[in-house]
Parts: sequence; structure tokens; C-alpha cells
Amino acid sequence: MTNKIYADNAATTRLSNAAKQAMLPYLDEIYGNPSSLHSFGQDAAKTIHESRETIAKLLNANTNEIYFTSGGSESDNQAIISAAGAGAMKGKKHIISSKFEHHAVLHTLKRLKKEGFEITLLDVCHDGIVRVEDVKNSIREDTALVTIMYANNEIGTIQPVGEIGAVCRERGVFFHTDAVQAAGQLPIDVKAQNIDMLSISAHKFHSPKGVGALYCKKGIPLSIMIEGGAQERGKRAGTENIPAIVGMAAAFDETCRKMGINKLYISALRDKLIDGLINIPHTILNGDKFERLPGNVNLCFEGIEGESLLLLLNAQELRYYPVPPAHPARLIQAMFYWR
Ligand SMILES: *Cc1c(COP(=O)(O)O)cnc(C)c1O
Repeated sequence: MTNKIYADNAATTRLSNAAKQAMLPYLDEIYGNPSSLHSFGQDAAKTIHESRETIAKLLNANTNEIYFTSGGSESDNQAIISAAGAGAMKGKKHIISSKFEHHAVLHTLKRLKKEGFEITLLDVCHDGIVRVEDVKNSIREDTALVTIMYANNEIGTIQPVGEIGAVCRERGVFFHTDAVQAAGQLPIDVKAQNIDMLSISAHKFHSPKGVGALYCKKGIPLSIMIEGGAQERGKRAGTENIPAIVGMAAAFDETCRKMGINKLYISALRDKLIDGLINIPHTILNGDKFERLPGNVNLCFEGIEGESLLLLLNAQELRYYPVPPAHPARLIQAMFYWR
């Protein structure tokens, strides 16, 4: 690789050293199956319990409210399908969500629609934020679930999940949030924010791919995603991916501890990049300038295809430009040197 800059951390992130170091023993000498009763197994079981505890604490949840999954997509699927199932038992077959959710949410809702659920997809305002009023006005007697993401994965805008949670709690409707982009970037407190279910994915905060977690408030019946053994309190069978789980807990702990300082540093870089790029004629910032993830910049360059610009940038080596180049692609590259 040349001196390329990776600017796609909303898609995935690099494994942190903290995660890597935490994982190494579990790729080597600690290899027992947590379901085994001997000490090899019990050492592994203890580690899983500790990882669950770490993640629970960081979300202000109870340890037995955390379920390990294969990632954000599975967590979203399990949360929505479970809440829909619980609702259907009471004759409630209406679900509220937004138009710009991740496909893991939208496609699950599409499937439920085929199974007879009615889905209300709320509009997102020009600033990239769903209005609490719209959620409130859409709740009906037969609403089983509201699922609105914490921060959008494309334009990075932050949704008022605490306020939405309060409305849902008051109306007795389950509230799920896809917090995959928010985890490690924004404070999460499932109790204070009245969140019933919440999805996170490890590879978005410097841990391995293929592992995630679902927080599910005690008392909400979770559907079984994989039948088999008693892992994850019978809700998801299969021998646990211990190295990945350990790595996720270590990385989540680190990103949450550094959240404050990262926010200051990264949002300052974000603002500088936006302020520079917005000077290019026909450039539009997508989403509110400040109610967005610290590391998110999302712009439209009118008349220029996103894919073309991406491929052009990808093909370029980084070079220093003494005077601002005219072409947006060159200018974006140059911006990285002007911070
Ligand atoms: C990445 C992402 C997901 C999917 O997570 P995976 O672990 O890749 O399945 C879901 N929701 C959002 C908002 C995401 O950014």
C-alpha cells in the first residue's frame, strides 16, 4: 500500500491494538468450549461472562440483558422479529420506523409486511433528522414497535433517541434502536434513554468482523434465532466465538473511555474539512452540520457522480498542492494536508 488515507470508517474500522492483544490468548492457549464442565471450558465461560459484564456496564444495562450475535445485522433482525412476535400475540401488528434505516432493518420490515404487519416509514427532514412529533403522531393502539437508528450510517445525523424512547415508554410501545454507528462515538445509557432493545456491531469500533451484541430489556421475550444448544440463554445456539467476543469487549471499553477526547479532536477535523470543501461551487453538505457523528463528512458535488469521484480519489497518490486545485477530487486530497 502507498500512503493512502482510509476514509471509510463508517463501513468498517481497523482492529485496535487493545482488541488484538486481548484476543491473542484466545487464539492460542485458551481454547476450551464454554459449555464444557472442566476447567478448560470454565475458563472460557468466565471470559465470556466478563465480556458480557463489560459491555453491559458501558450501556448501563444488566449483564443478563446482553446477547452476543454475529453482528449488527443479526441484532437488528432478532430485535425486530422478537418485538413483532410479542406484538402479534396481543393483536398488535403495526411498526414505526424511518425511511433511511440500514437495510438490516428495512429488509426485515419488508419481510414482516409480507407476513401481514403494517409498516409506517417516517420521512426524514431536510436536516437528516426524524422528528419526535412524527413518531408521537404515528403511534396507534396496535403499534408493537418503534425502531429508529441512533445515528445514520451514510450522512451521520444523530436522531433524538432519548426523546423517542420517552414517548414510547409513555405509550407502552417497545423501542429498538440500531446504535451500530453510535456505539463508541456517542453516549449510550439504555435506562436514561428508555431504550428497550439496542444493536451494536464490533467491527464499527475497531474490533473483529462477524460479532455484535443485542441489548434486550429484561421481560421482553426474545425469539430464538438459531436452534440448538443452550448458548445465549437458549436464544442463539452455537459455540461462542470467544476471541471475537473478547476483542469486542476490549475495543468497546477503549473507545468509550476515549469518547470525550476523540469527539473533540475528530469533530474539529470534520468541521475543518467541511468548511474547506463547502467553498467549492455547487457543493452541498448532507445533514445537519452539528447534529452528526464526530467523524462523518457527507457532501454532494452537483453534477459529479459519487462513484466516479470515489474511483478517482482511490487511484490518486497523495500529493502536496501549494495552491488549491480546481478539481474537487484533487481538493479533497489536498485538504488532508491542510489540517
Ligand atoms: C454496519 C451497520 C449494520 C450492519 O452491521 P454488520 O455487523 O455489518 O452486520 C447495521 N446498521 C448500521 C447502522 C450499520 O452501520
